[in-house]
Amino acid sequence: MSDGIRRFAAVLILVAGAALLWLAGRHSNDAGAAKDDLDSTVAYAREHAASSDPRLKATYSFDRGGWVYVHLEGDPATIGFQHGYMLAKEIEDAFPAVQAGMVHSTQRDWAFFRQIAREMLWPKIDPEYQQELQGIAEGLNARTGSQLDVYDIVALNSFEEVPDYYVPWLNKKEKLTGAPNLKSPGNCSAFVATGTWTKNGQIVIAHNNWTSYMDGERWRIIFDIQPAHGYRILMDGFPGVIASDDDFGINSDGLMVAETTITQFEGWDPNGKPEFFRARKALQYAGSIDEYTRIMLDGNNGGYANDWLLGDRKTGEIAQLELGLKAYKLWRTKDGVFAGSNWARDPKVLKIDTPQFDPNDMTSSPNARRVRWEQLLNENKGKIDVSLAQQMLADHVDSFEKKNGANERTLCGHVETSTRGVSLWEWGAFYPGGAVQGKAVDSAMAKDMRLVARTGHPCGEDFLAKPFLAAHPEFAWQEPYLRDMIAGPWTEFHSGEMPAAMN
Ligand SMILES: [Zn+2]
Repeated sequence: MSDGIRRFAAVLILVAGAALLWLAGRHSNDAGAAKDDLDSTVAYAREHAASSDPRLKATYSFDRGGWVYVHLEGDPATIGFQHGYMLAKEIEDAFPAVQAGMVHSTQRDWAFFRQIAREMLWPKIDPEYQQELQGIAEGLNARTGSQLDVYDIVALNSFEEVPDYYVPWLNKKEKLTGAPNLKSPGNCSAFVATGTWTKNGQIVIAHNNWTSYMDGERWRIIFDIQPAHGYRILMDGFPGVIASDDDFGINSDGLMVAETTITQFEGWDPNGKPEFFRARKALQYAGSIDEYTRIMLDGNNGGYANDWLLGDRKTGEIAQLELGLKAYKLWRTKDGVFAGSNWARDPKVLKIDTPQFDPNDMTSSPNARRVRWEQLLNENKGKIDVSLAQQMLADHVDSFEKKNGANERTLCGHVETSTRGVSLWEWGAFYPGGAVQGKAVDSAMAKDMRLVARTGHPCGEDFLAKPFLAAHPEFAWQEPYLRDMIAGPWTEFHSGEMPAAMN
């Protein structure tokens, strides 16, 4: 008997013994402790058996600077299996938090989201991404025995588009009385600059992610994806989700991508393709601004409507794709800057996709940050580089009150400090949300597939859950999920990076 077979046989015996004891334990009243032992034996045996799965040969992960870096490699099903297996702990931690948020805000149960995932979203997803999503559920199950299936995973992937875009559209269509007042989110502050605007003429792109802290504290995965088809990807992301989703990423053909959402966007096309799938496909297959635009427009469902900030390091050109549902606009330049902080600017998009948004209300978070971006970028024209971008993401100037101090109007948002909250997004006073992490990259780094990223507020301040919940009992429903959000150091990652022990 070889060592490998001997080990396998030992595991089999363990599993069989455990199963017998477990069956016996079901008929015994004082078998609790024994059952716990058996559960852990079964879990160990399952994990041990799965760890020799050939699909896991090329994957690895490590922790650094508060991030979990995971390398995924292979065909779609393999990439998915690796994702579910390697990030099983993070998915099982994040899933209940996302689920609680979706159910709480929409007053719909989880069965509703599973049904939408199965009937509306799944049939519109390309087979290769269906295989990847299926793989995530399988990898997760192999590691932990999780009962989450592929429709739970698809519903999780849709957490930025179904609750805040589809459900309000549905409520309106069904003329539902007493429906919650759902608003599309206003996530993120970002810019992309090129030409005479930057220190050495190359592209600089930077982004901080705004979400609830409950979700955002978990938005700390660095995905290094080497797919069998398409371009290599380096992006930040969320456990169990196939797109970056906040979004920030680069690919090996020179695309540099970020976005900020369009505030007060309204609309949904039930026949369209899910946004999370289009966004992932675009980062994997687009080698130019035109290709990126084409993929995002193909089957646009209106979900998670964003202003996409794009750069192509091969040409030095940057672009802003304002992707409404009924209208869209693409601006592009080889010498200029585009910024985003959740406002639309094309008159047609403003008129027909965001009819309620007031671009002239300078007290609002999107418009106040727009003014601040203009000030900062103009003041620093010709000097912009990655290190300056990091400082900009951490900026605490309130352009409306013209003073320094973090709140809902600053590029590094701290809405929990604000008595006003952000009513445009239904974030009430002291809402525990704001900037939850930041990333930046320039053309030279993108060429080497490198980026820098920081967990937590880009300014370095920590958010502490316990004192916050004590002061704001109205958010007690988040208590099981809301954790301290500790700022990590700015940390560099690159594609193909190995953990220290493997070097
Ligand atoms: Zn800050």
